[in-house]
Amino acid sequence: MTTISDSLQVIRATILHARHAAMRNDEILLLAVSKAQPAQKLREAYLAGQRAFGENYVQETITKQEQLKDLAIEWHFIGPIQSNKTQFIAQHFDWVHSVDRLKIAMRLNEARSQSLAPLNVCIQINSSEESSKSGVDIDSLANLAKEIVVMPHLKLRGLMAIPAPTKDLAKQRAQFKMVADTFKMLKQNFELDTLSIGMSDDYIAAIHEGATIVRIGSAIFGKRAPNFKNEN
Ligand SMILES: *Cc1c(COP(=O)(O)O)cnc(C)c1O
Repeated sequence: MTTISDSLQVIRATILHARHAAMRNDEILLLAVSKAQPAQKLREAYLAGQRAFGENYVQETITKQEQLKDLAIEWHFIGPIQSNKTQFIAQHFDWVHSVDRLKIAMRLNEARSQSLAPLNVCIQINSSEESSKSGVDIDSLANLAKEIVVMPHLKLRGLMAIPAPTKDLAKQRAQFKMVADTFKMLKQNFELDTLSIGMSDDYIAAIHEGATIVRIGSAIFGKRAPNFKNEN
């Protein structure tokens, strides 16, 4: 049986290998996406050295954070954000990857405690033609970034994207390259260091295109229960 610790070891080695192949020597953060996984599995990953965990749903996070409060976990929110959840998210996470509109950024900024370090945020961009996908359009990106950088309780770190899934490595790279090009453009005017792209099936391609955070769930924890429902 493959344990979480085994999977983490394989993924860490794969990340290093891909980074080397891409001739990079900067840091790449492995974010363990633990949505739909019970607290016990996060604890197991933590004992294997994993520190950063990504969650998509507020209700689920409340329970898990209570059960894991003895651990020094770095919590990342990566799911769609409803405005009535911004209060909790601003107080209980270190990072938010999925900021996609001004109203949400403003609410997070207002709700973040003065006593905490500024909340690290990424703007989620819409990197595919599918109009149903969430994320800001490239056209409105610079304006949103301009608003966020002056918010005292947020720290704009970079971009996040979820391109359409495909098994074709060349297509994966082409989609990530578009995101990376947008990131480079934005960096001409803003001080940014984070490109959050790549999941279980495409993180190698993402690393080749410059990912600094890869968000990996099923490759660490196994398949999520198919009947898992978000009761957010
Ligand atoms: C679920 C999820 C992931 C992880 O997906 P896997 O395919 O299980 O690695 C990454 N990012 C976001 C935003 C997700 O919702």
